[in-house]
Amino acid sequence: MTRKPLIAGNWKMNLNHLEAIAHVQRLAFSLKDADFDAVEVAVFPPFTDIRSVQTLIDADKLKIRYGGQDCAETDSGAYTGQISAAFLTKLGCSFVILGHSERRLLNNESSADVALKLKSAIKHKLLPIVCVGESLDIRKSGNHVAVTVAQLKESLAGITKYDMGNVIVAYEPVWAIGTGEVAIPEDAEEMCGAIRNFLADEYGDAVADKVRILYGGSVKSGTAPGLMAMPNVDGALVGGASIDPDEFVAICRYRLALV
Ligand code: PEP
Repeated sequence: MTRKPLIAGNWKMNLNHLEAIAHVQRLAFSLKDADFDAVEVAVFPPFTDIRSVQTLIDADKLKIRYGGQDCAETDSGAYTGQISAAFLTKLGCSFVILGHSERRLLNNESSADVALKLKSAIKHKLLPIVCVGESLDIRKSGNHVAVTVAQLKESLAGITKYDMGNVIVAYEPVWAIGTGEVAIPEDAEEMCGAIRNFLADEYGDAVADKVRILYGGSVKSGTAPGLMAMPNVDGALVGGASIDPDEFVAICRYRLALV
């Protein structure tokens, strides 16, 4: 089965709603039909930008998709400051990022929390991008594959084989996020291949074959082609470089460097 690569731009807490409009307009101006034929492109703006991004994308019938950077476990209620998957779906979101290492670290989010959010995302027909990855200490200990796969297993707790087919996994080594230190393609492949083997064992070959596994961590236009050439790397979750429209477009066009 061919998995369409996904290039996902996680803006984190950058770009207000006015800047978001200008940014998406620049992406839309640069990206051509041939780019969208080759890759799926999605942006993940702050919550306060999503309505503006939706309005622009709908009005101009853009092929850029979008999603939330997180969602709540529940649909509604007394959860000050939280945003539900139901609300994201209502705003036309296709995706939601779950378990990003910044949320795991700064918001004490556990893999059990991620599993609950995942159920809510699936219930509301969002395509979840479940992030996992090891710290530098774990990498140095040599246990990175076992630890990351265990983190993934916990984050996916209770997910059926049927639902797993629509989940996207992002391998994001914590030591590579926002540090400028990108994993070499062989390291990304080692982990993404191990994740696919785990998915095959847990959910069967057909599901493992369908699930897209992204690499994230300091991806830039110069490193994207090498990473994307790996057989088990099906896309990139891009943080810092997604804030620069020219750089993000160049990452989306990694294929031009592979020929
Ligand atoms: C991320 O936030 O998911 C990420 C990969 O960030 P960066 O590309 O800046 O390392």
